[in-house]
Amino acid sequence: MTGDLPRSRPRTEQPHEFGFDTRQLHAGQRPDPNTGARAVPIFQTASYVFEDPESAAAYFNLQEYGNTYSRIMNPTVAAFEERVANLEGGSGAVAFASGIAAQAAALFTLLEPGDHVVSSSALYGGTVNQFKHLFRKMNVELSWADLDDPAAWEAAVRPTTKAFFGETIGNPAGNVLDIEALAGIAHRHGLPLIVDNTFATPYLCRPIEWGADIVVHSATKFLGGHGTSIGGVVVEAGTFDWSNGRFPVIADPSPAYHGLKFHETFGEYGYLMKLRAETLRDLGAALSPFNAFLFLQGIETLSLRMDRHVANAMTVAAFLDGHEAAANVTYPGLPGSKYQPLVEKYLPRGAGAVFSFDCVGGRAGGQGLIGGVQLWSHLANVGDAKSLIIHPASTTHRQLGDDELRAAGVGPGTVRLSVGLETVEDLIWDLEQALAREGGTA
Ligand SMILES: *Cc1c(COP(=O)(O)O)cnc(C)c1O
Repeated sequence: MTGDLPRSRPRTEQPHEFGFDTRQLHAGQRPDPNTGARAVPIFQTASYVFEDPESAAAYFNLQEYGNTYSRIMNPTVAAFEERVANLEGGSGAVAFASGIAAQAAALFTLLEPGDHVVSSSALYGGTVNQFKHLFRKMNVELSWADLDDPAAWEAAVRPTTKAFFGETIGNPAGNVLDIEALAGIAHRHGLPLIVDNTFATPYLCRPIEWGADIVVHSATKFLGGHGTSIGGVVVEAGTFDWSNGRFPVIADPSPAYHGLKFHETFGEYGYLMKLRAETLRDLGAALSPFNAFLFLQGIETLSLRMDRHVANAMTVAAFLDGHEAAANVTYPGLPGSKYQPLVEKYLPRGAGAVFSFDCVGGRAGGQGLIGGVQLWSHLANVGDAKSLIIHPASTTHRQLGDDELRAAGVGPGTVRLSVGLETVEDLIWDLEQALAREGGTA
């Protein structure tokens, strides 16, 4: 039963190092041994027949790795997990029903009541809500740190701190995380650095190569790339020492798995095994095989799409930067961005495709722009093949006054773009005509 499960193999077995484009098509899958199917089959099944009572017992004891129930593992989902782990350079991965579930699970696997996390303050809005409200209910404390000031992260560390958390490219100001510096500080204190790599994808940046220990994704965005499915994934580097004294929750016998010592038993897979066998089992936010299949379709063309996303984003950002109705274009790929040195280091292929700018016409200008566009889709998502636009002050941040908006890093005229794969002249034509009609009038 284990034979058809894609597994990570030691590097020494693979004398030839395959390129990214090859791995985004092949990693984690061989043609189906039973049918010869070249595409990854959708194993639309809730459970699996055991060969005999002994192997069933071995699976449940985690003595052998075999399929039991699709809340915990599924061969289609496994192909997706192995592919993302391979592209990120991790030892393995566990998929979840959403990005928000993936990051909650990544952290809950490490945390106990009373613990503490240091997080970047420039985060996706849904993550801020989760950290502020859900984590408080779990009696987990948060310190927000300025991602431009690594010393502030170090100063925030407490005896109960269990992790650093940040996004490769932050929201909404396109802040770029200094991954190597923060990983260095985290490791000095025996802590893992967790990076949300959603906006960059492993094609533009691989945080593990710079010292990150855990990478989380909302696969809903660029990994899938088509805006069809919600999903997430957690990747671990497999190098962190969970037996360093700070993590009895992983090193000591687990009451949730009849006394199993996850790190001692599974070594570099200890964290991932606990993430799957306990956290995923108990939270239940499993990715469906069908959505895993759709994410695999997206990943096959990830590098091609990201190159186009970046090229289009650069062209649109440069256009807005020179437009009289637009101010404060935050694309970190622009030559004038204060994040240029970090972009050159961590994002040499480009700084992604999500950024914001301010309409000179303020709230009315932003709203007018949204009303005037014809090709850009007005919606609350990013990372679709189609170009997306939103005016936070009249949608996601609608209940806030102007002062509160500014505190959240959003101006009354701020507009967020997720630049898609259309003909770039068409994207600019649409912004141009909408800005001429509305944005520049105030
Ligand atoms: C969308 C997003 C999430 C949440 O992912 P879902 O798939 O919507 O649950 C987390 N982080 C970032 C950066 C995101 O863009």
